[in-house]
Amino acid sequence: MDGLLYGMVRANQQKKLIVVGEKESLLKDPFTGQLYSHAPSLKMCDLSPENTRVLMDLFPFTKPVRVLDFPTTIGTGDRLGLATPGHLRAVHQFKVRPVLAQQSIRENNQTGRNYKEVIADAAWAVFQEDFREGYGADGDHLKSLDEVKEALEAGVSMVTLDLSEKLNLEAAILPKEAIERRFEGEIDAGEGEVLLHLFLDKEFRLRGERGDLVIHFSEEEVKRKVLLFHQAIDFSEEVYQCIHQHTGRRPLIDFELSIDEIPHPTSPETHLFLVIVLRHRGIWVTSLAPRFIGEFQKGIDYRGEITSFRDQFYRHLLITRHYGDYKLSIHSGSDKFSIFPHIGEISQGRVHLKTAGTSWLEAVRLISLQNPSLYREMHQKALSSFGEASKQYQVTADLSHIPSLDSLADSELHGLLDQEDARQLLHITYGFLLRSPLRERIFHMLKDYEEDYTSLLDKHIQKHLDYLGVERRDQ
Ligand code: ZN
Repeated sequence: MDGLLYGMVRANQQKKLIVVGEKESLLKDPFTGQLYSHAPSLKMCDLSPENTRVLMDLFPFTKPVRVLDFPTTIGTGDRLGLATPGHLRAVHQFKVRPVLAQQSIRENNQTGRNYKEVIADAAWAVFQEDFREGYGADGDHLKSLDEVKEALEAGVSMVTLDLSEKLNLEAAILPKEAIERRFEGEIDAGEGEVLLHLFLDKEFRLRGERGDLVIHFSEEEVKRKVLLFHQAIDFSEEVYQCIHQHTGRRPLIDFELSIDEIPHPTSPETHLFLVIVLRHRGIWVTSLAPRFIGEFQKGIDYRGEITSFRDQFYRHLLITRHYGDYKLSIHSGSDKFSIFPHIGEISQGRVHLKTAGTSWLEAVRLISLQNPSLYREMHQKALSSFGEASKQYQVTADLSHIPSLDSLADSELHGLLDQEDARQLLHITYGFLLRSPLRERIFHMLKDYEEDYTSLLDKHIQKHLDYLGVERRDQ
């Protein structure tokens, strides 16, 4: 650009931006760095926050943009800040757009990072791979207005608002009299009447090629759902307005609502109720993450009845099509290979899939292959942290199914990454491993073996996209 050549170099363990060209042009170049003026002149620049801002100005494709309007999108959370090149090489083969920077506050706390760093890591990797098609950055599972503001300030292009703490789950089980009483007491009379009017004495018939979905609401049901959602909807409205203030009138942010981390699957009735009330309030979502039936445990395949999943997924999809054509978002979507073909087929590829943990597990796989002794230490640390970690993540791993390390030769260790209990063990303890003294050695290994890590991820994310049935690009 302007007679200068820009590229990434790695010196020992550190990556730098290098700019090469005539000295006069280099002096005008906006990056801050160390100038070496023998011919050809060059400048070495740190990947500092200041240079990250310059990068995004000079090469706008390195800045996150909203991508969810593209038919198929995949979230590839990179917890380490080292996985993006692998994600991009896979994504580049398919008709798909990536959300490369995708972290929840919980993940950031576990890995000791913040949104600015997460986005910067993605931006430099996008530059390194010369990926010019656009990528998203998702502030995932945000639970308060302050968290949303923090993510917006850092430059996310997507907000995933987690409503779980604002739901009144009691409303599903309270006796009828209690529902009547609380509806009278908690809901403004005028608003209550409007809401009842939206649903009562109506038939909601949503037509589709695989059969229609027909839903009626009883008065009791409507009141239960109003009580379940009313705080959550007020909260969504508050956040929606905050996003609009931040970005002006044009919605530059993908807005997702998630109710996947609640104890019960979301019925189509509940989904329909929520979206009708949202539209009534003027809130438009880009995507919605219901809790689907069956189990979506971290890092392993789907557990549950595939026929009922298909049936429910189709019903949810019909609702999205009739109420604004937003997307269904599949959370904890890593490694759900048995249902991917069904999701792809029923949605005709119009879906958002979120993965994250599986890329961490590929990092662990790399270490098991290249540095067995480090792997053994990590495995021990994971075992001793499991009790604590399983308080935060719902898993069913049975540690007694995991072969003891002493019984395995070095060459057999990587097999543990194909065993479900061991995968769950290593998945949910990532924060403990990354906050332990092992952290430095883990990063050191992954940087030394960057190309190997990249090709493991490339293969693994390609497998996800292939199972989903995403079309490959004509090369
Ligand atoms: Zn989720």
